[in-house]
Amino acid sequence: MRIAFLVLFPILALFVGGLLYRFAYAYPRQSFGELLRPTCHACGSLLPKRYLIPLLGTILSSARCPVCKEKRGVGCLVSELTFACVTFLLFFFYDLSFLFLVYLVAAAVLLVLSLVDLDIKEVPHGLLLVLILLGVLLFILSFFPKVSLSKILWWEHLVGAVAVSLPLFVIMVVSGGGVGGGDVKLMFCLGLLLGYKLILLSFLFGVVLAAIFSVALIVLYGKNGKYALPLVPFLSVGAFIAMISGEKLISLFF
Ligand SMILES: [Zn+2]
Repeated sequence: MRIAFLVLFPILALFVGGLLYRFAYAYPRQSFGELLRPTCHACGSLLPKRYLIPLLGTILSSARCPVCKEKRGVGCLVSELTFACVTFLLFFFYDLSFLFLVYLVAAAVLLVLSLVDLDIKEVPHGLLLVLILLGVLLFILSFFPKVSLSKILWWEHLVGAVAVSLPLFVIMVVSGGGVGGGDVKLMFCLGLLLGYKLILLSFLFGVVLAAIFSVALIVLYGKNGKYALPLVPFLSVGAFIAMISGEKLISLFF
C-alpha cells in the first residue's frame, strides 16, 4: 500500500506542480483564466491545451510561442518535477499523517512564493497568510500532541516566530534595505510553523545555499554590478530540508 502511494502521490503532484506554476503567474496579476488555459507570458496569446499535460506539455510542445516566437522556458517543467519530489520526500518521511498534509500545503505555498519572487520580486501577503494559518493550527495542536504527532512544543512555535525574523528585522532597519521586508515576514510565518530549532536550521541552510549560489554566479559570469539575489527560493529550500530532516539533524547535535 505504502509503495502504491509513493508512486501515485508524485504522479498527482506533477499535475499540481504545473497548476502551482500557473497560479504563481496568475495570482499577482489577478488573471485566473491562466489556470485552465495557459497563455504566453510575453504576448498573452492562448496556448494549445497540450501545454497543460505534466512533463510532456513542456517537452513535446514547441520551445517558442507559436504567435510571438518568444522562448517558453522550462519553468513549468521545473515546478512540476520539484513538487513531485517534494511530495515523494514528505510522504516518505511522514507517511499519510497530519504533519504530512500540513507540510505539503506549506511546501506548495513556498513553491508559489519562490516563483513569484523570481518573477516580480514580491512576497504576496495573501500567501503568507496561509502559512500563518498553518502555523496557528500547529500551535493549537501542540497542546494535543497525540493528534498532531508533532514534537514541537507550544512555546517553541512562539519563539520560532521571532527567532530569525526579529534579528533580520533589525538588520533590515540598520542596513536600510539589505534585507527585504518580504524575507522578514516569511521568516516570521515559517518560524511560527516550524518552531525555533527548525527555523534556525532552515535559515542556516537557506543562507549557505544562497552564498554558494552567489559565489557560483560570480565565478561563472564575473562580478557585473549589484545584483539583488531573490532570497525566498533559498529560504524555501532551507525550510523544506528542515521539514524533512530537521528533527533528526537536531537530535544529532542536542
Ligand atoms: Zn507569445
